[in-house]
Amino acid sequence: MKSLVAGGAGFIGSHLCEALLKRGHDVVCVDNLISGRLRNLQGPAIAGAGRRFRFLRHDIQNPLKIKVDFVFNLASPASPPHYQKHSIFTLRTGSEGTYQLLLLAERSRARFLQASTSEVYGDPEQHPQTEDYWGHVNPVGPRACYDESKRYAEALCMEFWRKRKVDVRVIRIFNTYGPRLDPKDGRVISNYVMQALRGQPLTVYGTGRQTRSFQYVSDLVEAIQKVMFSPGQAGCVYNTGNPGEFTMIQAARLVKKLTGSSSPIVFKPLPKDDPARRRPDITKVRKALGWQPRVPFEEGLKMTIQWFQEELKGSRAA
Ligand code: NAD
Ligand code: UDP
Repeated sequence: MKSLVAGGAGFIGSHLCEALLKRGHDVVCVDNLISGRLRNLQGPAIAGAGRRFRFLRHDIQNPLKIKVDFVFNLASPASPPHYQKHSIFTLRTGSEGTYQLLLLAERSRARFLQASTSEVYGDPEQHPQTEDYWGHVNPVGPRACYDESKRYAEALCMEFWRKRKVDVRVIRIFNTYGPRLDPKDGRVISNYVMQALRGQPLTVYGTGRQTRSFQYVSDLVEAIQKVMFSPGQAGCVYNTGNPGEFTMIQAARLVKKLTGSSSPIVFKPLPKDDPARRRPDITKVRKALGWQPRVPFEEGLKMTIQWFQEELKGSRAA
């Protein structure tokens, strides 16, 4: 079996490449490295895979002519500062990039999994969010480049399934964290942990009463495989996330406690259109596929902090 992982040099994609190799697949990792890092691909699972692993530096907006059995589309800038900086690129990646990969899947008769996002729900008026909620997105705001590109990609996937019989599956990923989060990409967990370890103030945006539900990366990688490799899932859409819900103040306090940091907490302006609450309803995926997250936030944070400590030691030694 041969899998293509688009965005495979990124945070989630690199963990997925490793899991697929362990499963016995050949893996083609396709990434243009706009936010991914080659060092994410230097762990023992990939180093030991020899010719079963191939890296292609490629932008998915361009056609790609290879034959595979499974296509995982994780390619997209994902952190708010990053996708807002590369806004037009983000829109084109979600639209033209997803189209090119769907054509590849159609030619290959491959199964296709789209990494969508809880952001399709925007600043949700329904709480928690179920898959049949249509969302509350500002289509002209600064987050629209990401939210709308992912919504368009979902629509495109569904039409490839309805009209052209490509077996597509969509997962809406809620905030995910863990080792290999880019320390510089501005997401909340990487910011807090780096700030705490460096003795800098932890930056809480707005009042800090907005909530997120944080999923550890190994739980997500398990969900991705369940959705892709279970029979009879064509055209299905699933939330994947951890329903534990935390305010950004609670998250900051937890990071301070687990790092033993005496950094102060400071408040910064809330970015425009920042969603006030977010929590997945995972009843659908639990009932259909028997998946639910296993790693509690505190436990996952400890493993993440340990990884960031090692990264910091490495960068000081270099
Ligand atoms: P990431 O930035 O670490 O990984 C994304 C990867 O895609 C990077 O390696 C980047 O270089 C690559 N990429 C971007 N555009 C590309 C293009 N046009 N062609 C080829 N490669 C391209 O982010 P991540 O957190 O690992 O996210 C992976 C996927 O999961 C993204 O699609 C993201 O939208 C989705 N997602 C992530 C989260 C999360 O909390 N991490 C939540 C919801 C959805
Ligand atoms: N946030 C914060 N401090 C930071 C970075 C982010 O308080 O240093 C907040 C941000 O305003 C949002 C939440 O943390 O309410 C999650 O932000 P992130 O960028 O990680 O992901 P989002 O869910 O907004 O896409």
